[in-house]
Amino acid sequence: MSSVNEAAAKSATVSKVSVIDAARGVMPRAMDRAGGQPDAQQAARLAALSAKADGLNAQQIIELALTGEMAGQTAVVSSFGAESAVLLHMVASVDPNTPILFLNTGKLFGETLRYRDRLQDILGLGDVRSLSPSLEARQAADPEGTLWSRDTDACCNFRKVVPLARALAPFAAQITGRKRFQTRERAAMQPVEFHDGRLRFNPLWQWSLEQLEAYMTAHKLPRHPLVEDGYPSIGCMPCTRRVQAGEDYRAGRWSGLDKDECGIHLTDGGGI
Ligand code: SF4
Repeated sequence: MSSVNEAAAKSATVSKVSVIDAARGVMPRAMDRAGGQPDAQQAARLAALSAKADGLNAQQIIELALTGEMAGQTAVVSSFGAESAVLLHMVASVDPNTPILFLNTGKLFGETLRYRDRLQDILGLGDVRSLSPSLEARQAADPEGTLWSRDTDACCNFRKVVPLARALAPFAAQITGRKRFQTRERAAMQPVEFHDGRLRFNPLWQWSLEQLEAYMTAHKLPRHPLVEDGYPSIGCMPCTRRVQAGEDYRAGRWSGLDKDECGIHLTDGGGI
């Protein structure tokens, strides 16, 4: 491709980007790529649930995911991060004993672990499952705990992707807290999707940061303590830095690397 054509192609791509990480140019990660094709039965179920979800608000999508034909088949994936309280509050209002899958990578901020415990207590969450890599996996992949500094994809894989895949195995569906505004790839998100062999509900798909903030205020939900300290998006400690004024919302995640997702679904926290 000539340099002129390359420039035109790049310009066309950038012009379509309307979300906040437009300038980052990162490639789609596994979580935001199409995740395998459903078979005929799964496709029919996806189409039926998508039709039901059309026009529903976030709370109603959660009810769709947790009741009726989906009862007992759905887990929530949560990072207990900056905005997680909104989704968890809605889930708790439908069924506080919904399984909540939380990836405790061994590299999280202590503030996140304490925030998880606080939300669990306040919201009455009865089934928070803390997932970790096995001892064997840690010894084989990262005996010194420094893999993040050499190969973040490999580190995310054994600390997040593998444990989450194991925990999701019994479920036909998951609920995520992903939002369209978060990344370029998420801008195409639908309220119900199919990914890695199961349904994926995204109740907050159209929510903005302002709506999230308003919901937390209205329901007096506690904030993750690191938000006020300059972390609008929170992941593992070695891979998260403070964001400066004018930087995009997720600029502190894997800063300086061509990486925007951990690969889950993989499985975000929440927006993971
Ligand atoms: S975010 Fe960083 S520390 Fe956490 S699993 Fe991924 S590479 Fe490892």
